[in-house]
Amino acid sequence: MNLEDNMSLVLSKIESAMNKSRFNQSVELIAVTKTVESDIINQAVSLGVKNIGENKVQEIQRKYPDISGDVRWHLIGTLQTNKVKYIADKVDMIHSLDRIELAKEINRQAVKHNRIIKCLIQVKISEEDTKHGVDIENVIPLVRDISDNYPNIIICGLMGMAPYCEDKEHARPYFKKLRSIFDELENLKIPGVNMQHLSMGMSGDYEIAIEEGSTMVRVGTAIFGERVYI
Ligand SMILES: *Cc1c(COP(=O)(O)O)cnc(C)c1O
Repeated sequence: MNLEDNMSLVLSKIESAMNKSRFNQSVELIAVTKTVESDIINQAVSLGVKNIGENKVQEIQRKYPDISGDVRWHLIGTLQTNKVKYIADKVDMIHSLDRIELAKEINRQAVKHNRIIKCLIQVKISEEDTKHGVDIENVIPLVRDISDNYPNIIICGLMGMAPYCEDKEHARPYFKKLRSIFDELENLKIPGVNMQHLSMGMSGDYEIAIEEGSTMVRVGTAIFGERVYI
């Protein structure tokens, strides 16, 4: 694996997908570092990575002290309420807010640390029951509830995952759907909600996601190679 080559390939594909996109958006790369050790992450940071995505609280806790440089941490995986306290002072953004009890705890911890935590609402756009997220019809009520009750959370967009498929084109309608919900929410102009980020697209489908309006892609394998789970 050559990190530098992988990075420049991903960055150039992001660039061409942006040029193809009709959304005229900017796109941020979240380098997904789950199972990747700290020395490799530091190499990626020295190559220009600014955003690190982890799906497990324990991995953030373990690696956080090792990573040098000006990086932002993103929690992109399912978050258990009782683990929010371990990351509330560390993460820049939580991509997986999908229920009110979780919002309540994130807000409580944010108050404790005297900060505002940026969150994306994770929407279930695929029928696969392994995917988490709030059902589409409950997105707006959830956003309103959080905006009314939890002032130390700022909702700044949505996150979603298309079902995995060999054929990338299969993902396109799911991304279109999520973008339309994003636009609808933006038009509602709910106080305390600042629709800035649409987190969709992974190694297999980030180019399609960008063409359909993504502003944040979460890319692991295409940068770091296949994951080895121990
Ligand atoms: C692992 C993971 C990714 C990145 O997956 P790749 O296919 O390796 O790019 C993106 N988002 C979430 C939520 C993940 O858990």
